[in-house]
Amino acid sequence: MSLVSLRNVTKTYPSPDKGGERIVAIDDVSLDIEAGDVYGIIGYSGAGKSTLVRLINALEPVSDGSVIIDGEEISGRPERELRSVRLGIGMIFQQFNLFNAKNVWNNVAYPLRVAGWPKERIAARVDELLDFVGLREKARSYPDQLSGGQKQRVGVARALATEPRILLADEATSALDPETTQEVLALLKRVNTEFGVTIVVITHEMDVIQSIATKVAVMDGGRVIEKGDVFDVFSNP
Ligand code: ADP
Ligand code: ADP
Repeated sequence: MSLVSLRNVTKTYPSPDKGGERIVAIDDVSLDIEAGDVYGIIGYSGAGKSTLVRLINALEPVSDGSVIIDGEEISGRPERELRSVRLGIGMIFQQFNLFNAKNVWNNVAYPLRVAGWPKERIAARVDELLDFVGLREKARSYPDQLSGGQKQRVGVARALATEPRILLADEATSALDPETTQEVLALLKRVNTEFGVTIVVITHEMDVIQSIATKVAVMDGGRVIEKGDVFDVFSNP
């Protein structure tokens, strides 16, 4: 059984002009992400990648088809049940989305406080996460005192806090220089191998896919136009 399974998923939005046809953001997409995969989703701007992320993370309902996470159909479930689905999915973002008014330690602690963990467990978990991403000495620094790579390492620590099985990286290296990109990708690889977390990497950059992913889906105009092993999809015999 796949960890994430999309079955003939379509997502449309109302057209901005009255009476216009609906905008088709995702068009009959089916794909399977297995536990332990580093799965790349690549496509140009407007291909539907961010919409796909919001559907997997249960932030929006599908228009048609189904999204099955760990064997559970999530479309049509009430909001309170979706919260627990989201707790099993960590996210990192292009602009990091850290709280600028909180220091590194409190950024990482935040999702644990929301989840209602007791104080002592939060403290132990945050220290462990900061050790893992190599930022223990930055615990009291604020985001604007960090480099881009350091900010994204905080993002990774925060995303992993509640021990999700899936980490969604939405253009997570697009704001970083090539060297820092490789450093963050290496960290994601460790998240995959050391914790067995399934990683979904959304990007418009082929290099990112080739550096880290083993499987890839190529999106264009809301459709998956090709998918399979990275080697097969990108080899040109
Ligand atoms: P990508 O992440 O690959 O750049 P998106 O998923 O953001 O692509 O967008 C896919 C298509 O869906 C685009 O045409 C976009 O304009 C449209 N779209 C995405 N979100 C919305 C929305 N909330 N309302 C209307 N149209 C949207
Ligand atoms: P609230 O329930 O207080 O509205 P949210 O769940 O909206 O909190 O989370 C607020 C912020 O915390 C989000 O913008 C997100 O960046 C971060 N966050 C929460 N949970 C996670 C998680 N599992 N992984 C990564 N970031 C998270």
